[in-house]
Amino acid sequence: MSTSESSVPAEPETADATQSFADLGLDAAVLKALKDVGYETPSAIQAATIPLLMAGHDVIGMAQTGTGKTAAFALPVLSQLDPGAQKPQALVLAPTRELALQVCEAFESYAAHLKGVRVLPIYGGQGYGTQLSALRRGVQVVVGTPGRIMDHLDKKTLDLSELRFLVLDEADEMLRMGFAEDVETILAETPAEKQVALFSATMPAQIRRISQQYLRDPKEITVKNKTATSANITQRYLVVSYPQKVDALTRILEVENFEGMIVFVRTKNETETLAEKLRARGYTAAAISGDVAQAQRERTVNQLKSGKLDILVATDVAARGLDVDRISHVVNYDLPIDTESYVHRIGRTGRAGRTGDAISFVTPRERRMLTAIEKATRQPLTQMQLPSVEDVNATRLTRFDDAITAALEQSPRIERFRVIIAHYVEHHDIPEVDVAAALAVVAQGETPLLLSAEDDRPQRFDDRERPERADRDRGDRPERRSRPSNSSLAKYRIAVGRRHRVEPRQIVGALANEGGLKREDFGQIDIRPDFSLVELPADLPNDVLDRLSGTRISGRLIELRLDRGAPGGRSDRERKPRQY
Ligand code: AMP
Repeated sequence: MSTSESSVPAEPETADATQSFADLGLDAAVLKALKDVGYETPSAIQAATIPLLMAGHDVIGMAQTGTGKTAAFALPVLSQLDPGAQKPQALVLAPTRELALQVCEAFESYAAHLKGVRVLPIYGGQGYGTQLSALRRGVQVVVGTPGRIMDHLDKKTLDLSELRFLVLDEADEMLRMGFAEDVETILAETPAEKQVALFSATMPAQIRRISQQYLRDPKEITVKNKTATSANITQRYLVVSYPQKVDALTRILEVENFEGMIVFVRTKNETETLAEKLRARGYTAAAISGDVAQAQRERTVNQLKSGKLDILVATDVAARGLDVDRISHVVNYDLPIDTESYVHRIGRTGRAGRTGDAISFVTPRERRMLTAIEKATRQPLTQMQLPSVEDVNATRLTRFDDAITAALEQSPRIERFRVIIAHYVEHHDIPEVDVAAALAVVAQGETPLLLSAEDDRPQRFDDRERPERADRDRGDRPERRSRPSNSSLAKYRIAVGRRHRVEPRQIVGALANEGGLKREDFGQIDIRPDFSLVELPADLPNDVLDRLSGTRISGRLIELRLDRGAPGGRSDRERKPRQY
């Protein structure tokens, strides 16, 4: 971790295990909310950023999703709000409405014990009515996409005259989406005396320039990746959505040949919940977190050493320094918030010259974190597939066979039962194999021995199944409509073209903002004199189409509709379309 100013004390390379949120000067009500959500220690970016923001500095944070950057700005902002004032005091700009909503949820959970603090999301595609009435009632924090915020400023429906904090989240992404002008206008037209925090995964020249122009003596925070490799540990990853994680873990437990295992989760609350779920599935599992008393922790670790316990569900802090030879597997049920923790976690296996296995669950949006891990460990992780029903059943049958073989070796007991069975066969005239099958049914109980094809149906997950924010990885928020990369695109026509001086970035920005689309949703954009053709997913739902057709670009209604042959348009061969 480094800061650009020598006046700021050198920050630790990563979050220090002994540092606590209580050391960072946050408001007591915010600390209480942190206790509820179960975070143990500040992440590296939080430990570095929070004291600076609490001290009134402007900050530039080089951080990407998954590092805990949202809390890095939300916690100090909330700690310094005046709940009595009714005009917005904090504004967070985010590139997409998904991110705006996530940031809002985060603010709300951290503000749970702050009386009277209201947080409002403002994004394109949502009716103005709700936003206007909420603004009239009074809010302290607004989280929005730049386009819609600008609309409100133009209409004078958003009063930022008392703004004290401005956060630019994923600044590079906002620029890529064509919001540079809007962002600059907002920076310039809000009170000069505000504190600004800018977060960005990359630092292109344009962001440097904006920072120099609008931020006052900003302190810059970057997370450095230390490297460490562990050649005796096989590292794999599995792409799963949040709701699939328990099922995925259960299947892995069935097919992997493990002795002892540590399953890492992000929060204290989750350790207990997951351990309970594993116990319910018949595994010997226990939870340890920073909250567990030392004596209890030692007892649990001893049980793991002796084999009384096979699975430990732990947080980073709880598993620090754990040295148990039996641990053959580490599962990162939730990815850690920095690469340092990853290296530390997987180092819990492959002890005493043994080999080890590390399996990381990666949600689709966490792929960037995966790349960072690969860079830090200088080892590629191999992708694995969710064990199939056939894999699981093959393992179950092998175990069943092994159990029979082992039982046959239990000599005095087998002798006694042989007499009883022989008596049964004689008196009922039933073949021995049928009797054996009947006994298997008795032994198996209600649980089927094998999984059925039904169990392999892809998991559907929608908003109703969404876990609480504190318990889930933000990355796997079910997308409104995440388009598989191979799904087809269709050409849509919009009523703005070269004559109206539109540029591709404006089109991307407006459609993304109003329709909740992502960059991957865009294909080619072809700007003609009077209209433009834009490739978007062929299966856009009607409500999105309605919203998009009512969108304005440069003040003109775009009247988006499917393009059917473009009468009057020039042939596609005339212009080389731009690829997005
Ligand atoms: P972000 O980088 O802000 O998108 O956060 C990534 C995830 O980390 C979110 O699910 C947060 O709830 C979680 N998180 C943030 N800070 C911490 C922390 N100090 N300890 C554990 N989890 C955290």
